[in-house]
Amino acid sequence: WQLIELNSKSNDEIAQLGATYNEMNERIRENFFKQKQFVSNASHELKTPIAIIKSYAQLIQRQGKVNPEVIEESVEAIDFETDRMTQLIQQMLMLATLDRGDGLTYQTVDLVKLSRDSIRSISAAFNRSIQFDTNTEQIEVSVDPEKINQVLYILLDNAQKYSDDLIQLSLEQVSDHVLISVIDCGEGISEQDQLKIFDRFYRVDQGRSRETGGTGLGLSIAKEIISAHGGTLTLTSEQGKGTTFSIMIPN
Ligand code: ADP
Repeated sequence: WQLIELNSKSNDEIAQLGATYNEMNERIRENFFKQKQFVSNASHELKTPIAIIKSYAQLIQRQGKVNPEVIEESVEAIDFETDRMTQLIQQMLMLATLDRGDGLTYQTVDLVKLSRDSIRSISAAFNRSIQFDTNTEQIEVSVDPEKINQVLYILLDNAQKYSDDLIQLSLEQVSDHVLISVIDCGEGISEQDQLKIFDRFYRVDQGRSRETGGTGLGLSIAKEIISAHGGTLTLTSEQGKGTTFSIMIPN
């Protein structure tokens, strides 16, 4: 501990120091609480696939010899749960890297080309067509291209999961920043859920998200990546009409 020299400080200055100290204390408490909640959620999320893997292993032990069909079904389930755990761990490691404030490798890239390339690979992966709109031929920016690609993947993957209709990615240079919008005409997100949608592990429909393979970490990773670039990620949504995620990156 270091003693703060308060000699010759005016009452105003002391009051200001006190206020700063209280604010710092509040932030530390908030962060501590968030960390605790993260660890508890992470343990819970990892416990589920482990329990499922264990039960299938026991099923094979008990019935595998007499009922070979059980083996095929169990191995398939174990494979699925192992992939889910791997995805969870990779996403948690990514968040830890972003929390440490490192992990970005800047490069000057053309965002129009980067967006076109991501759209091509994502529409092939999901077998969905994605419309691309831009008001310019080329937008040179200094970003971490892999991370921006990851954000586009997260947003477009969600768009195709939660919408059967048209998905659109639009890109424009607006004064001193670039605006990227991912637009879907799907089920939308309620106002209440919009407040929590970027929270770590938050999912609107827990049961369905497990079916669709979601972890509830995608949007929080996307938000951290964009913040690390000095930008913002926001959304507007209307239930039954669709959702637009807007990324602003300074340029
Ligand atoms: P997940 O891995 O579950 O998709 P995300 O953090 O990416 O996690 O998203 C959190 C939740 O936000 C999702 O479970 C889903 O309920 C909701 N969501 C995300 N994107 C959309 C969208 N485009 N339309 C409707 N709901 C969405």
